[in-house]
Amino acid sequence: MTATPILSGRDVTKKFRGLTAIDSVDFELQEGRIYGLIGPNGAGKSTLFNLVTAYYPLTTGEIRYRGERIDGLPTYRLNQIGIARAFQISKPFPAITVRENVRVGALYGVPGPRDVDAVTEDVLALTGLGEMADRKSGGLPVGNLRKLEIARALATRPKVLLADEPCAGLNPSETSDMMECLRNISRRGVVVWLVEHDMRAVMGVCDWIYVLEAGAKIAEGNPQDVVRNPRVIEAYLGVAPPAAAEETA
Ligand code: ADP
Ligand code: MG
Repeated sequence: MTATPILSGRDVTKKFRGLTAIDSVDFELQEGRIYGLIGPNGAGKSTLFNLVTAYYPLTTGEIRYRGERIDGLPTYRLNQIGIARAFQISKPFPAITVRENVRVGALYGVPGPRDVDAVTEDVLALTGLGEMADRKSGGLPVGNLRKLEIARALATRPKVLLADEPCAGLNPSETSDMMECLRNISRRGVVVWLVEHDMRAVMGVCDWIYVLEAGAKIAEGNPQDVVRNPRVIEAYLGVAPPAAAEETA
């Protein structure tokens, strides 16, 4: 018996005129885990996140949160029920401080009693932004901007956090810092779903990985199985893998 997934999709499809950007994709996210979403450029990763967060309507299919249909709900409602997204392009309010930006997140999000100051300080500490808290957000180095994007989403107190390339533009040490931050967020009981190009980073942090190519799900599984999957290797390298790779698969 498996628990009701916190987030699931069935036959999720998105067509932009002639182009099928997402082609009948199924997914199922369980509590307590970190998920990855990988695939070559243009595979449809951001589009899938855009569908989950209602940025676009689905062409067909359905998305459920704790078993209830959520496709068709507006983005702010999704935020209220516990689905948050950190964007690839960070857009904090530049003229206010890091702390104030996080505070904005704490004022919104999941309704209910909360201590806005406590949430803000907790999120600043969890994301390692404490020392930066009084700086203006405009002109922050990219590593801190990415963290601020995560922090703003986290301050809305989500149960599911979608992060689209949170390590884009980060150096290796900033990348491992971000991965550690996502691990800590997961330990707090937030289900993290992560789009990431750095295979090593994805493999190190994710419990389960979905692989898209040209809008279709070509594989899913734990990191060890996914890296050995011939279709995944081919999608990434553009060539069929040598036969030896299949022996161990
Ligand atoms: P990824 O994030 O995996 O790099 P995207 O989800 O951004 O890929 O894009 C998947 C495909 O859908 C691409 O071919 C892209 O050009 C197309 N696409 C994305 N958004 C739109 C849109 N609003 N209108 C038309 N085509 C789009
Ligand atoms: Mg993308």
